[in-house]
Amino acid sequence: MRLIPLAAALVLAAPALAQEAPPTPRTSTAFTLASEQPLAPEQRAVRFDRAVLAFRLMPESRTLAGDAALTFTATAPTDRLLVELDTVFDISGVEVDGRALAPEAWRNPEGRLTVELPSPLAAGETATLRLRYHGAPRVAPRAPWDGGFVWATAPSGEPWIATAVQGEGCDLFWPCIDNPAGEPGEVELHITVPSNLSAPSNGVLLGTEDHGDGWTTWRWRARQPNTYAIALNVGPYERVSATYESRFGNRFPMEFWHLKSAAPADVAALFAQFAPMLDFFEANVGPYPFGDEKMGVVETPHLGMEHQTINAYGDQYRVDGRGYDWLLHHELAHEWFGNQMTNVDGDDMWLHEGLGTYMQPLYARWLHGDRYMEAELKTQREALANRFPVVSGRPGVSYFNGDGPGNDIYFKGSLFAHTLRHQIGDDAFRRALTRLVYGTDTPQPGQIRPLTRTTPDFAAIVRDITGRDYDWLFRGYLYNAALPVLHQSREAGVLALRWETGDGAPFPLPVEVEVDGRVVTVPMTGGSGRLEVPEGAHVLVDPDNRVLRQSDAVDALVAFRGRAR
Ligand SMILES: [Zn+2]
Repeated sequence: MRLIPLAAALVLAAPALAQEAPPTPRTSTAFTLASEQPLAPEQRAVRFDRAVLAFRLMPESRTLAGDAALTFTATAPTDRLLVELDTVFDISGVEVDGRALAPEAWRNPEGRLTVELPSPLAAGETATLRLRYHGAPRVAPRAPWDGGFVWATAPSGEPWIATAVQGEGCDLFWPCIDNPAGEPGEVELHITVPSNLSAPSNGVLLGTEDHGDGWTTWRWRARQPNTYAIALNVGPYERVSATYESRFGNRFPMEFWHLKSAAPADVAALFAQFAPMLDFFEANVGPYPFGDEKMGVVETPHLGMEHQTINAYGDQYRVDGRGYDWLLHHELAHEWFGNQMTNVDGDDMWLHEGLGTYMQPLYARWLHGDRYMEAELKTQREALANRFPVVSGRPGVSYFNGDGPGNDIYFKGSLFAHTLRHQIGDDAFRRALTRLVYGTDTPQPGQIRPLTRTTPDFAAIVRDITGRDYDWLFRGYLYNAALPVLHQSREAGVLALRWETGDGAPFPLPVEVEVDGRVVTVPMTGGSGRLEVPEGAHVLVDPDNRVLRQSDAVDALVAFRGRAR
């Protein structure tokens, strides 16, 4: 999540959570602060099998010591290994398969660490690169939107630490391939913290070891985590847990690691939402993808982030009238849209954020009916910027800088999904989501592996399931900045309708029209249509707001808000 939703304006204005001024650490390079750098040829030549990441976190000095063992298998011959790691760290040792390398065998000028292998790897051969490093990791200026480490103090006085690195990438605190293609097959985390603190993290807890010297190591193992989903969370936590009984026959733990100072009623109310939310996703998309690990949530000093099996929750148990906790739901949606199904490139990130965001109004309807869904959709509609296409068609385009679609990937993506659902019907929509997320129509717990997808993949799935081509719908909404305009004129007893899209391409989107209370569908073949309407009849186009389009009423609201600012 990176959006600044309408509710977040309030969140940001809330009292600061005892985050003192950070020290002045070394500065990360522009290379490190960007994510999804193009892969180097040497990175394309390896498979990232496994990472064992040991961290010791020193809250007083706001530093960490890292010891990372990264195992790669060559898929093509290579004589180097390349990983990304922030240059704020001093590297004290580099080994390959247990052999220490001379200082001239590696360099890390801009944050891409190049290691010359003692002997070249042939295809199929494996090597383990071990790095020891220490230093003060980047402090997040404004997590989660501007990320890094958050060194806070819990209300009960202990250190409260979190990481959130979606925009900047994993290389802010561990050596990785900072690209969606860089998911390791498995990650083990050994997190050493003061013994009065807990360190919940991704995947399955292997155990804790109290060293007897005031320090305790927490060991976790996670299968194929998203690169930016690896998260450190340290604080005076307590855990509530229960077993979820899935409709697919499996069972798995639900865990909420909350601050010990949290009000018990707040904790109970939030935890009570876990199982109903899982019910919704399992019924409407498919099995919880990480049922072999856990569904986990941890209370954080920042708003939230979709950290695989340990989602960050920092919305302070706010009740906002939606009838459920939207932040918990949004981050949970990312277990399907983001962590299980990952975009090939950030240009397609609406597949995470737009589809994930659409799950919230659908859940509002699931719980409370149409009024609650429509209220959320109306708020989303009023937030569109329409300045850049949701999908540019050019890989590597960042969506959250000034030259990208920004929050439109959330809200236009969601409203597009709403339009698509009504065009193809509930059943086809559900099947399309399932196939998009799992690569099969019948996903089974225990056989689910993360996959990557593009926008054209989704369009192809919709085409295949419906037997009809909807590429024009994807193109009209997602590849154009401007919203489609539905031109209307009424003359001599005829209502004439005509679609106009940003690029003028065909847009045969049917439109419902209510004439004196009776609804008919105008097919809009070739992008235009006509309907006979009696003189004096009241005509209401798209009475149920099922079609996303330009609106004079919304434009007037947006212009008014702009003037009032
Ligand atoms: Zn999100």
